[in-house]
Amino acid sequence: IYGEKRPNSRGVNLNINSQYQPLMDAMARHMDKQYEARPLLAFDVATDPALVHEVTSPYDRRQKVGSVLWTSADQAQKAVDAAWQAFPGWEATPVSERADILRRFADLMEENLAELMALCSREGGKLLTDGVDEIREAVDFCRYYAARAEELFATPSELPGPTGESNRLYMGGRGVFAAISPWNFPVAIFCGQVVATAVAGNTVLAKPAEQTSIVAHRVIELLQEAGMPRDVVQLLPGDGPTVGSVLTSDPRITGVVFTGGTDTAHIINRALATRENAPLPILVAETGGMNAMIVDSTALPEQVVADVIHSSFQSAGQRCSALRVLYLQDDVADRVLEILDGAMAELHVGDPRDLGTDVGPVIDEDARKSLQAHIERLKGEGRLISETPMAAEHTAHGTFIAPSAFQIDSIDALEREQFGPVLHVVRWKSRDIDKVIDSINARGYGLTFGVHSRNESFADEVARKVRVGNVYINRNIIGAVVGVQPFGGQGLSGTGPKAGGPHYLLRFATEKTVTNNT
Ligand code: NAP
Repeated sequence: IYGEKRPNSRGVNLNINSQYQPLMDAMARHMDKQYEARPLLAFDVATDPALVHEVTSPYDRRQKVGSVLWTSADQAQKAVDAAWQAFPGWEATPVSERADILRRFADLMEENLAELMALCSREGGKLLTDGVDEIREAVDFCRYYAARAEELFATPSELPGPTGESNRLYMGGRGVFAAISPWNFPVAIFCGQVVATAVAGNTVLAKPAEQTSIVAHRVIELLQEAGMPRDVVQLLPGDGPTVGSVLTSDPRITGVVFTGGTDTAHIINRALATRENAPLPILVAETGGMNAMIVDSTALPEQVVADVIHSSFQSAGQRCSALRVLYLQDDVADRVLEILDGAMAELHVGDPRDLGTDVGPVIDEDARKSLQAHIERLKGEGRLISETPMAAEHTAHGTFIAPSAFQIDSIDALEREQFGPVLHVVRWKSRDIDKVIDSINARGYGLTFGVHSRNESFADEVARKVRVGNVYINRNIIGAVVGVQPFGGQGLSGTGPKAGGPHYLLRFATEKTVTNNT
């Protein structure tokens, strides 16, 4: 159906419209409010006008969301002092009490769903459907980690020993964690980091991305309302090189949980490694991807296209899991590309507040310029396959990029992750499948991967050979669900722990064996 051009119809709308109208009405009450976000530290801070930054909406830079007071380097250091002092008391707090705070926090996020979604839209440019997924995931993280913490930490494990000797394994917190998060999941990833580290018994210094500090501020207000002590989780809005580097160079920081670009993870890793007299660092890093999907000639072209559209263009391609390189077997490539062209023509790029929009803005002007430069280069080389039309009346005042697809020769042609709605297509011949898998593995990233095939043994073999964290067979490759599809990559895509998985909390805990011979 997508191959037919139907100018007045909406074949691949990524939204499901009417059921969201009541939520839209509730969100409307929060769309004009002006926010004043500030550091939420164990101590009060005075307002320094030089550190106040204005925040506007990516879909219309004329619209103000409010302002953010950034944290100074001096305040960041004092926050580390306070976190150290708070650590022993928090670690000694029964795990059931820590978990209860997470559950109350989850309830409060659900009660404040409309406001949080409105902020995700106004500050992060998120579509309504993306906002729903975002808050759902944050709530799931809280309830899942609360339950896991009680299972893992509430009582020591009894271990065998000779008569008269007891052996027990106790779990405790590690100390002070810096939680550094990106803007593309400003509630879900931000909350996931904070609640996982805190419920495991650590005190936390949370540095949200610059672009989404207001929603982070609102989230920490709710966490405090749920009972989280203000010296256990502190919020430090500010820029990465200032606040982030104060935290990562401080020897009292026991570990860093980081989600963001691979280059930034390298900077943080170096900063942690060069600290003197510091504990050996724990770095849990979840970073970028160069995610591929292999389609063979047995795949169903219509299903492939529907899944490619979701994987590449949902959230304007600003998901670490998004599809970047589509490998089409030659025999089926023309048919898939014809349908893809029809589907892309029907996407609607525009204001995320409009229920008819499929693709909203990219986060800011830097992102837009960087993606545009990549697109111009590929167009200049004559590689354009398809591009979604973009109407000036919907996009004049924001930072928008039209979804596009380009043919390239191999994944090696991509120097770095392109974090936006740009799909790259590579054709392959069946005799070359091993070379295709080798080149994907050789690129060094290992986050998500998809395979579309009705040949089960082919799909299984490909899935086994690719070195990635999450494989999806015959479906889209985004939207991992907490407790169902633990999420996280390997190689350049991260240090491996799976957010939303059964072992994640263990990364933030110490284990102490006590042998007693009395
Ligand atoms: P980013 O530029 O790496 O920033 C991430 C965070 O690091 C921000 O809070 C940033 O602060 C901070 N930061 C920057 N420089 C720092 C420094 N020198 N020391 C300490 N912290 C520093 O990433 P982004 O643009 O926000 O997010 C997009 C990237 O995240 C993409 O690469 C995407 O693939 C990745 N991502 C990965 C996952 C995953 O689970 N694997 C999930 C989501 C996103 P500022 O905001 O002030 O720069």
